[in-house]
Amino acid sequence: MTSTITKSKELFERAQKTIPGGVNSPVRAFKSVGGTPIFMERANGAYMYDADGKRYIDFINSWGPMILGHAYEPVVKAIQDKALQSTSFGAPTELEIEMAELIVSMAPNVDMVRMVSSGTEACMSALRLARGYTGRNKFIKFEGCYHGHADAFLVKAGSGVATFNIQSIPGVTAGVSIDTLTAPYNDLEAVHKLVSDYEGEIAAIIVEPVAGNMGCILPAPGFLEGLRSICDKEGIVFIFDEVMTGFRLAAGGAQERLGINADLVTYGKVIGGGMPVGAFGGKMEIMQHIAPLGNVYQAGTLSGNPIAMIAGYTMLKTLSENPSIYKDLDEKTAYLHKGLDKVFSAGNEPFVINRFGSMISIHFSDKPVNNFSAAASANNTLFNRFFHAMLNDGIYLPPSAFETWFISAALSKEDMDETIEAAGRFVQSSAK
Ligand SMILES: *Cc1c(COP(=O)(O)O)cnc(C)c1O
Repeated sequence: MTSTITKSKELFERAQKTIPGGVNSPVRAFKSVGGTPIFMERANGAYMYDADGKRYIDFINSWGPMILGHAYEPVVKAIQDKALQSTSFGAPTELEIEMAELIVSMAPNVDMVRMVSSGTEACMSALRLARGYTGRNKFIKFEGCYHGHADAFLVKAGSGVATFNIQSIPGVTAGVSIDTLTAPYNDLEAVHKLVSDYEGEIAAIIVEPVAGNMGCILPAPGFLEGLRSICDKEGIVFIFDEVMTGFRLAAGGAQERLGINADLVTYGKVIGGGMPVGAFGGKMEIMQHIAPLGNVYQAGTLSGNPIAMIAGYTMLKTLSENPSIYKDLDEKTAYLHKGLDKVFSAGNEPFVINRFGSMISIHFSDKPVNNFSAAASANNTLFNRFFHAMLNDGIYLPPSAFETWFISAALSKEDMDETIEAAGRFVQSSAK
């Protein structure tokens, strides 16, 4: 099968003249896998349609938000109705209270929540709060974890930073990155060492409880528990970055699913139902330090925007009222896992499939992939060929081995079968 992406090619040419690299977020550019990014026109349920009218089965789902599939009707309708009452007030609304109450009712350890407009904002605000609360400057993050593009986090970050193999980032000053300490994911020993080297200086440990920005990587048994107890012992604020996992792994996110308590939690992606939304929340004792209640400043002209709130609220309400969605997502992802495992086992290339809930990814590696260096040493040239073969067959996977796939409830068993068959054709053609 050969694809015609004539219009995408034209649009990409045109886009590059006025948009840096032709895209508004780097990973979309297909730079690491090569080729032309596909310009999308519309989407419904499990399918996206590009500018040439070609259909794709979507395994990115806008990087997570479209957990119930595209153009989910109740969300679309709610947005339409709300827009008639004005798209922004810049003053408080009852809907913001309803949103906060709903989040507090769904998420463990979240007594209070502040809405922002992206996951980046959520993480940078949570870090500032942890620093303001403890009066300490340094924090620990893990290699390959991505917490948005705020300066302090762009040290050994995953996602696009890993995809493009960017080592140090022009514009991020040494004065900022000196306070960012890093350890390999799943390496408690390394964290113990940092904590003793910098005793009394560490404000926070931030972690993706299930990592999704170096492919999908699971926390080793005891890793998160170990971090929790280090934080308890040292008075360090434990931040779960649930921008990916929140409302995806369970109604109460990774905290609920893994049974680990965080002090602060950050959200994004699913929380906005496809609109630009983020949030950070947590224990009352810490959250009360945020302005105007406390002195740690944080603000946003469009924070709590009514259109964003009604989209997110409608999405979260659906998820909270239908817990069977999570079982369904797990089953679908397990089905895909099993099918892919079968077709790749028939080939010659070593591979590792990591899965947790509705997050899944494949690394072409002959050893377990449990941290960034393992993900980086996999055969990512082969991944790029796999990506293009699948794309050509109408399967839209993340254009990098350093990204998890996101399963939506709209994907059917037939969609999974079509995907597994396409993977099987790839395995056969590469065996020749
Ligand atoms: C996507 C992501 C972010 C950043 O969110 P944006 O809305 O893109 O700013 C932060 N943390 C994690 C874990 C993410 O996956």
